[in-house]
Amino acid sequence: MKESDAQSISLLGATGSIGESTLAVLELHPEKFSIFALGANTNVKALFDLCQKHHPRFAVMADVDAATQLQNLLSHANSKTEVLAGSGALDQVASDADVDIVVAAIVGAAGLSSTMAAAKAGKKILLANKEAIVIAGNYLLEAVHQNNAKLIPLDSEHNAIFQCHPLAQSKVNIGESHSSVKKVLLTASGGPFLRRELNSFQNISVKEACAHPRWEMGRKISVDSATMMNKGLEFIEACYLFDLKPEQIQVVIHPQSIVHSMVEYIDGSILAQLGSTDMRIPIAHALGFPERIDSGAQALDIFDIAKFDFIKPCTKRFPALRLAQQAASEKHVLPTILNAANEVCVNAFLNERLSFTQISSTVEKVMHDLQGENVNSLADIMELDAQTRVATTAYLT
Ligand code: NDP
Ligand code: MG
Repeated sequence: MKESDAQSISLLGATGSIGESTLAVLELHPEKFSIFALGANTNVKALFDLCQKHHPRFAVMADVDAATQLQNLLSHANSKTEVLAGSGALDQVASDADVDIVVAAIVGAAGLSSTMAAAKAGKKILLANKEAIVIAGNYLLEAVHQNNAKLIPLDSEHNAIFQCHPLAQSKVNIGESHSSVKKVLLTASGGPFLRRELNSFQNISVKEACAHPRWEMGRKISVDSATMMNKGLEFIEACYLFDLKPEQIQVVIHPQSIVHSMVEYIDGSILAQLGSTDMRIPIAHALGFPERIDSGAQALDIFDIAKFDFIKPCTKRFPALRLAQQAASEKHVLPTILNAANEVCVNAFLNERLSFTQISSTVEKVMHDLQGENVNSLADIMELDAQTRVATTAYLT
């Protein structure tokens, strides 16, 4: 039974960068939101600290050993938080009848199952976990529609598109086409290597790749931003969320990262959303929607902006973008292969087992090898995801 009128939240990926920003916004509005569950994978210390601070009803660790350690720590601290273990428990807290809002902020395909569980249970889903929609967009949106769930994107670009798209807002069940939308201008910062000498790309270090010039994020998405695979995943994400054909999306490099994306209409109007580079802004928008609530972020001072640059991306410099656009055109098996191969390669790069340029070249090889596979169900997608991980790992040894 719910104890107050506050909306009850399951935050999955609580120990990550999006988790931290979400908790910062929630802390500003204790009367509006209460924390039902916090979920993570292995980071016991971080989840313990969050439980001590936020007192959720449940703490979930996907890793069973980590859950046991957390249980021990919380018992010693006389905490009332109940610990649940395993990925099935993430699905459980994403679909519990007492939950109103699920923040899907797990990184990678590992977030798909709990996001699907939330959709099937008709929740309001705040989606940061772009990999889930990239690999299973059709199935996820179908579950959202059939179960009257609500899906609001947290990814800053897609949240910006949503804010500039009254037709998508009027439905909230996004994923429908609107003939008045001519195209979407999907902005990208260009990452740390926009102007680096191309012939030095093979020497790029983990530290350099993780040092994003504009955003502070988790390590996986930071590397994805450096290769621009992040923009590629977002390209596919936008195709699904706003029912766009690939030719209706133009990637625009905008190094200042002030315009977070734009929507162009058939009458020639272009709507843009602007803001500082702080994820608390899209998070507060999605939490409060259709109201506006304080995000705690510093507002942009329009007089500080000297100029806006908009540049066409070069796919020779960023081959990952070309691969993702190819996957978006096929929208069947290739997005799953692209995503799983990329997850394995980024992990290998972070562990210094693969060079920066080998990330995209390996993803391309695996896409070529597995492109003929068949996918007819969500189970097939999970199977293809696993098969791709094995095939990609074989290239690493
Ligand atoms: P982080 O690496 O900072 O955090 C990842 C979170 O996911 C951690 O809480 C981690 O738990 C959890 N996690 C990882 N694997 C599992 C698993 N198998 N089961 C359960 N939990 C798991 O990532 P970010 O916060 O940067 O990104 C999260 C998602 O949001 C990504 O999909 C990213 O693309 C997207 N996103 C992020 C943005 C940003 O600014 N950071 C912007 C837009 C989108 P643990 O700590 O225990 O490992
Ligand atoms: Mg983004």
